[in-house]
Amino acid sequence: MQNYDVVIIGAGAAGLFCAAEAGKRGRSVLVIDHAKRLGGKILMSGGGRCNFTNMYASPENFLSQNPHFCKSALSQYTQWDFIALVNDYKIAYHEKTLGQLFCDDSAKQIVDLLLAECKKAKVVIKNRTEISAVSVLESGYQVLTAGGDFECESLVIATGGLSMPKLGATPFGYKIAEQFSIPIVPTRAALVPFTLHEHDKEVISELSGISVDARATCNNTSFNENILFTHRGLSGPAVLQISSYWKPGQEVSFDLFPNGDLEGNLKLAQASTPELLMSNCLSKHYPKRFIQSALDYYKLPNKPLKQYNHKELSQVAEAFTNWQIKPNGTEGYRTAEVTLGGVDTDYLSSKTMEVKRQKGLFFIGEVVDVTGWLGGYNFQWAWSSGFVAGRVC
Ligand SMILES: Cc1cc2nc3c(=O)[nH]c(=O)nc-3n(C[C@H](O)[C@H](O)[C@H](O)COP(=O)(O)OP(=O)(O)OC[C@H]3O[C@@H](n4cnc5c(N)ncnc54)[C@H](O)[C@@H]3O)c2cc1C
Repeated sequence: MQNYDVVIIGAGAAGLFCAAEAGKRGRSVLVIDHAKRLGGKILMSGGGRCNFTNMYASPENFLSQNPHFCKSALSQYTQWDFIALVNDYKIAYHEKTLGQLFCDDSAKQIVDLLLAECKKAKVVIKNRTEISAVSVLESGYQVLTAGGDFECESLVIATGGLSMPKLGATPFGYKIAEQFSIPIVPTRAALVPFTLHEHDKEVISELSGISVDARATCNNTSFNENILFTHRGLSGPAVLQISSYWKPGQEVSFDLFPNGDLEGNLKLAQASTPELLMSNCLSKHYPKRFIQSALDYYKLPNKPLKQYNHKELSQVAEAFTNWQIKPNGTEGYRTAEVTLGGVDTDYLSSKTMEVKRQKGLFFIGEVVDVTGWLGGYNFQWAWSSGFVAGRVC
């Protein structure tokens, strides 16, 4: 039996960050992970460049049964604190869009930063290690693994959500919560592409590869980014964002002219260029292949603008600005970036992430019922929740 002050299960973003913070306080820290590669999700993130935070991160960018829960951790360790750390390591980065910060070079720089911080803090990391059981002792916790048994005063669960099982995701954290009678807010795949009913899929798969600007709306929430038609359904940032708010059976509406007045534009064009074909007029705004499919889908004619009466012009504008579609599902955890739901925050201290009625047990990162928007928010939650636990565990 080996003794540590702190054992952290999960060497992802939250676990490694928490480990370094606890180690800096002089705590002896062991991090255990079953994966071969450390920080697998970080390496895959942001298309290999890791969108490590967002300049505008605030509690409004997170979903949770208790929307106030994330406030304390996010204010104790902000995006500016992480940006300062990235600057200390001289990692070059840029804002891609909407405050999203990406490494110029590679996501590996963020993994290297975390490992360097852990090394400085004398953290011991054991990967490729399966955990068989966790139990409570009088003085703390016991963790039994294929690579030896460990005792610790504080146990931190940082095993993430269910998305991307091929990167090592498991329900381990939820099982530990259940072992301690902590409820789980029902989980589902989020930041995930939509799949479509057969007749929509036939039309949309022909548009595969086309991307257009859109405002996606569902349940009174809207995102103004682009959408991507794929051979399986709908993807792109606006779709991923709205998928977190969508529930099975609901419709999503897309305004494909999100930054202006399409009907007004068509009326002006009708007056100034009456001989212009509708498809040629719309081609100022959309790819040609997309226009023909959209007109066919709505059974709208393609003729010179002067031949449209007022009602028909409105119908064309309506088709492009209020496209309603009912997804038949999502691609699920296989491609989802995150998991919605998780460990019920009512049972955790928002200041420290410690379980209220179980001294020394902590849950951090994605395993908790706090889920960020697309755009660096989920890593910020991993850093902030890892930091506050690392200060006290
Ligand atoms: C493809 C992809 C791209 C993403 N891009 C971004 C992005 O650019 N910006 C952003 O903010 N967010 C992004 N995310 C989301 C972000 O990666 C996660 O929210 C974040 O990694 C969560 O951190 P975590 O430490 O809680 O969990 P994870 O990073 O998932 O780490 C959990 C760790 O626990 C280990 N583990 C799990 N089960 C066990 C077990 N039974 N025994 C031992 N170890 C176990 C896993 O191997 C893993 O190492 C992306 C996600 C994906 C899938």
